[in-house]
Amino acid sequence: MLQLNGKVAVVTGAARGIGRSISLALSTAGADMALIDLTADSLQGVLEEVTANGSQASVHGCDITDTDAVAATFKEILEQHDAVHILVNNAGITRDNLLMRLSPEDWEAPIRTNLTGAFNCTKAAVRPMMRQRSGRIINIASVVGLIGNAGQANYAASKAGLIGLTKSTAKEFGSRGITVNAIAPGFITTDMTADLPETVTQKLTENIPLGRMGKPEDVASAVAFLASEEAGYITGQTLLVDGGMVM
Ligand code: NDP
Repeated sequence: MLQLNGKVAVVTGAARGIGRSISLALSTAGADMALIDLTADSLQGVLEEVTANGSQASVHGCDITDTDAVAATFKEILEQHDAVHILVNNAGITRDNLLMRLSPEDWEAPIRTNLTGAFNCTKAAVRPMMRQRSGRIINIASVVGLIGNAGQANYAASKAGLIGLTKSTAKEFGSRGITVNAIAPGFITTDMTADLPETVTQKLTENIPLGRMGKPEDVASAVAFLASEEAGYITGQTLLVDGGMVM
């Protein structure tokens, strides 16, 4: 059983889906939690769940694309928790369309949230981590960032960028005892994939050696491992949690 007692973990996009599951897994391992999503109201359900796990927890309504709001939120988190040991950059969006039909706004939206949002949070979290000379940053990318996907040029570019951010920051922060890794999930059953037609999910599942879509918990347990002391010699890596779909 992984132990995260005494650690403070920040999770973005914590209100639902994979972010909710990550928050439950980290709190089950003993971490105190600072939960971020677009509104504090949307986080009330998860707040109750992580508190029931024994965590000291706080909720923060913050749009991670807003640099000033992120700086203010991390100030609030440090005032309430005194430290940030773990950052999970999980919040993400899609704006799918074929490239020829993609508007400049829809091109930019996933890049702003998935990549610039992670940059904003990393910058805010890394200062206290540097002072502590330890930290764990885990970026939730996607297999699509490695292999591409028709209709997702914007999303794939944002996730490929996130993998580049992961490797560069792993090199920058390694000497301060901070590890930075990415997780690339395959197809996970959440609201994000709920609208896929049955025929599409059936076809996708045929290409997954483990024969099923992933669950948010599959991603969450990989995050808990990378956040642990036991993962202390792993940095700059992208761990695929995809049932073997890409290998
Ligand atoms: P969901 O859409 O279910 O949840 C995303 C959460 O992020 C929502 O609570 C959303 O808030 C929040 N959010 C969106 N934009 C912002 C923002 N600007 N600031 C703060 N919070 C924000 O997504 P998933 O749980 O499915 O995905 C989580 C991560 O995993 C994403 O990065 C996604 O790209 C990645 N991923 C998911 C896969 C899947 O198959 N589901 C596969 C591979 C990667 P609100 O509800 O208000 O919009």
